[in-house]
Formats: sequence, structure tokens, C-alpha cells
Amino acid sequence: MATPTAPVSARAVVGQGLRLVGGFARARPAPFVLAVLGATLFAGAIIAASQVIGWVTDTVIVPVLTGGEPREGKLLPAVLAILGVAVWKAAAIVLRRNAAGYLQFKTQQDVRERLIEHQLGLSLSWFGRQSMGDLLAIADNDTRQATGVLAPFPYASGVSLLIVGTVVLMFFIDFWVGLVALVGMALVVFVEVRAAVTVYPAWEGIQKQMGKVTGVAHESFDGALTVKALGREEHEVARLRTESEDLARRIAETNSLWETYRVIITTLMPAISLAVLVVGAVRVDAGAASAGDVVSGLYLLGLLAFPVQLIAFVLFDMAASLPAQRRVQTVLEVDEVVEYGTEKAAPGSGPAPVAGDRVSFGYEPDTVVLDDVVLDIPAGRTVAVVGPTGSGKSTLTMLLARLWDPGSGRIRIDGRDLRSFARYELPREIAFVSQNSFLFDDTVAGNITLGGDYREEAIVEAAIMAGAHEFITELPNGYDTRIGERGAALSGGQRQRIALARALIRRPRVLILDDATSAVDPSVEAQILRRLKSADLPSTVILVAYRPSSIRLADEVVYIEDGRVVAQSSHEELMQTQPGYARLVRAYEEDAAERARSAR
Ligand code: ADP
Ligand code: MG
Repeated sequence: MATPTAPVSARAVVGQGLRLVGGFARARPAPFVLAVLGATLFAGAIIAASQVIGWVTDTVIVPVLTGGEPREGKLLPAVLAILGVAVWKAAAIVLRRNAAGYLQFKTQQDVRERLIEHQLGLSLSWFGRQSMGDLLAIADNDTRQATGVLAPFPYASGVSLLIVGTVVLMFFIDFWVGLVALVGMALVVFVEVRAAVTVYPAWEGIQKQMGKVTGVAHESFDGALTVKALGREEHEVARLRTESEDLARRIAETNSLWETYRVIITTLMPAISLAVLVVGAVRVDAGAASAGDVVSGLYLLGLLAFPVQLIAFVLFDMAASLPAQRRVQTVLEVDEVVEYGTEKAAPGSGPAPVAGDRVSFGYEPDTVVLDDVVLDIPAGRTVAVVGPTGSGKSTLTMLLARLWDPGSGRIRIDGRDLRSFARYELPREIAFVSQNSFLFDDTVAGNITLGGDYREEAIVEAAIMAGAHEFITELPNGYDTRIGERGAALSGGQRQRIALARALIRRPRVLILDDATSAVDPSVEAQILRRLKSADLPSTVILVAYRPSSIRLADEVVYIEDGRVVAQSSHEELMQTQPGYARLVRAYEEDAAERARSAR
């Protein structure tokens, strides 16, 4: 489906809206057909009802009242006919409502799933440029709005049939009566289309503004700690107020515009009835039409007074659906998809060697964060990545886990380019743990296994190695304790250790730790790292480290400055040959000693 451009004419709104509905209908034909069938049966029931009324008028009411005929024998068939039509109509309404509801909510789910699936396949660089509030608004509000047109559509299509049926019937009654009805109904539909086109641009603005409001609210909730700590609540409320006042104003304006049109439509309907009555009376007088016919025509028009607004509703919903669908479509069309090859992982085949061949990378075009990085890490080695803040350590580890792709050069594990692996294969070989790993609203065990199929012993073993077992057993329900969204009830160090256990249980061939134990006590950190080294782990370990005690545990150190690998060697040798490295490590040492003193 191509991105629709902003429709400017009535034709475009209706055309694109019908195409949108058509697309949805093709995806779920059964409920769509049933809903339209229900609406058609409903229209049929109404027309039948008008015929029954006309027939009852001509054969029962008029003869009994004016001709003084006995009513015996005439009442029962009349009652049965009226009842039958009523049941027919009720069944049609039930069918239409159920099918239309099912269609709407299933389609909404389809669109949302497709959107989320597509988003999860996109690169982190795309995510980095998005506002989370906007993405939330698109996934929630816009998918709902885009499919909202499906709710009134079947009814409106039934009503359209009804309008056509009514006008045709009026012509059968009498040409002049038919003409009045035709002109009247055409006028109503014209006003309705105008209404939808007029409110269309306003809708676009409303939806954009909704994204902004969600964005601001999301940011204030996300930064609740900072907001409270710095006493910025009022400022945040004011920020939200400005945006939501703008939103409220837009909605109110659109609404009043809309209501104006509705008033016009609701006054037009009785006016049409009146005109039909006058013309009809004249024609009955002239003997050109029967009173019953005119009564059934008026009955139909009366019944149409409310449903005719449905056409306006559906146009209104179309006008709202189109910009929402466009926002959804914009995301669906982002093609910054991560490309995958066909290589399979080889889990369980021991630690893997890692190599970087002249890797350069920048987050934005024309920026350089990593510059011609060459790395050669033999299988099973524990390597520390050390360098000043901002030198590119985190960036390098993310590239090694293929969270980003290098701008030029390549990264290999086991001699194979990371990009040559099939989707979902690489995470079976490489585990990446960052400083702020995300915890899900699940149990401790669930956060470690992430839905994987592991035995209890494996979970405990991973937790022991990550230094987490002890505090976990002290939680109210041990491994079955729910830890809430983002693990709010745990300390930073505890969260980090659960994240580490999550990586270890996968027995990765390459384990990458980006400052993953920064919030853990230095002594506990050293203990964890020592366990990792002595355990018979199938992993090559690459860790970004600051504490001298941790750096010394590594077999080798990669020293980075300004996005370049300056040297790769043992800690002792680097202390001797690299003055920058020696200065940095000494600064870390002093810092550690200072902390130890103030802690006492
Ligand atoms: P380190 O981990 O060594 O402190 P980083 O790899 O985090 O360094 O950052 C290296 C450089 O890249 C810094 O100049 C930083 O500002 C920049 N940088 C990091 N992350 C991003 C990002 N997502 N977008 C743009 N620039 C970034
Ligand atoms: Mg970092």
C-alpha cells in the first residue's frame, strides 16, 4: 500500500477512505461480508416495514375507519406481518453489529502487530531518532483511529442502500414525490461530504498534537525521579498543560464545526419530509397516488432521519482514519531494516575468536566515533577494554554484539562476518550486558530465562556465577519473586547481577560486558570476574572495565583513545609503554582509594 498523500478534495477523502476500507476488507473478508450482509438485510427490513405499513393503511386502517368495514379477520395478518418484519430487522442488527465489531477489533490487532513486528526489525539508529511518546501514540492511538472507520462502515453502506431504495420507491409512488426525495437526499449527502472534507485537515493537526501530549507525559513519567529530585513538578505540569490545552482547543474547534454540520443535516430531514407531504397531498388529491403509498414514503423518510447521519459519521471517521493510517504507514515504510545472512550459530562449540578488521563507525553521517579499529581476540581470552570517557568503548562493544553495524570494515566471530548470520542466530553466540540492562515485569527466574527452557539447576548456577544467588534467596519468594517493571524494588547492583545471570545462562561463546558490574561492590565485582575466569565457561570475555582490580584480572587489555585502538597488550606492559594508559589507571586507583576511605 503506497503512502496516501494528504487528500485535498472530497473525492480524494472518499476515494482514499474507500481504498483503505477495501484493503482492510480484503485482509478479513468473512466478517466484512457478514457485516455488510447484515446491513443490507437491515435496509431490506426497513423497506419491507414501510411496505407493510402502507399495506396495513390501505387494507385495514382506511377501510375500517372511513368505510366502516368490520376489522375481524384483518387484524391478525397485519400484526403477524409487522412482527415478522420486526424480527427480521432485529436479526439483521445483531448480525451487523457483531460482525462489524469483530472486523474492527481484529483489524486493529492486525495493524498493531504488523507495526510492532516491523519496528522490532529496524535498526537501533532509527530508534535513536524517534520520540518514544510519538511511537507510543502511533502504536496505540493511531492504529485505533485508522481502523475506527470499520465500525460505522457496514451500517453506512446499508444506509446508502436504504437511501437509494427510498428514492426509487418514491418514484414508484409518484414521479413528483420521487423528484422531491431525490433532490432532498442529494442535498443531505452533499452536506455530509462537505462536512467530512472540512474537518479533515483539523484531524491531522489533532493527531499530531496527541503525539506531542503523549510524548511530554511519557518524558515526565520516565524522568519522574529527576523531576521530583529537582522539584520540577510544576514546570512539567505547565509543559503538559500547554500541549494539552492546544489539543483540547483543536478538538473543541473541530467538534463545533462538526456539530454545525449535524444541525444542518438534522434540520434538512424534516424539511424533506414536509416537502414530500405537501407534494404527496397534492398528488393524492389529484388521484395520482394512494394515501397508503405516501404514508409509507413518509414513514421511510422518518426512519432515515437518524441513520442518514451515519453516512456523515463514516465520512468523519474516514477523515480521521486517513491521517492516522498515514502515520502508521510512515513507520511501516521505514526501510532501515537490519539485513541478515544465512549462517547458523554453533552454540556449544566452545569459545569463539573475535576480530575487527579496520572498523570505522559514526552515529551520524560524517562523524567518526571509531576510526580504523583493528582487533584480534583469540578464543577463550578475557580482554578488558580501557579508555577515557567518550573514547568509544561502549560503541565498540555494541558493534561487537551487532547492535549497530560498522560504517566500514567488518567484525568477525569464528572468522564469519556478523552480518552473514541469519536473524536470531547471533544472540545464541554472543551475549551483551550493558550498564543499564532492562528488567521485565516478571519473576526473577523469568528475567533470567526470558522464556527460554532451562532447568532450575541451570538458573541457580548462572545466578551463583553472577553473584546474585544470595540476595535472590533472601527475596520474599526467592526466584519466584516478581520484580515489577524495570526492577524498581532492586538496587542497581542487584539489577546488574540478574542481567549478568541472564547472559551467563545462555552459555554464550562470546560474553560482552559494558561496565556491567559498575554498581556492584568492588570486592563482589572482583569475585564475580574471578569466578567467570576460573569457571569452565565456553566464553571469550570482553569487558569494559574501570576498576584496577578488574583490569588486572584480564589476560589482556585493549587500550582505546579517541576511537582508535592505541595498543593491545598485557596490563603490565601497557603500564610501562603507554603513559596515557598509566595515567588513566592511576587516576582510577586514586579514585578507588578515595572511595574506600570515605566509605569507612
Ligand atoms: P565510552 O563508552 O568510551 O564512554 P561511547 O562509546 O559511549 O564512549 O561514546 C563515544 C562517542 O560517541 C562519544 O563522543 C559520544 O558522545 C558518542 N555517542 C555515543 N552514543 C551515541 C549515540 N547514540 N548517538 C550519537 N552519538 C553517540
Ligand atoms: Mg561507555
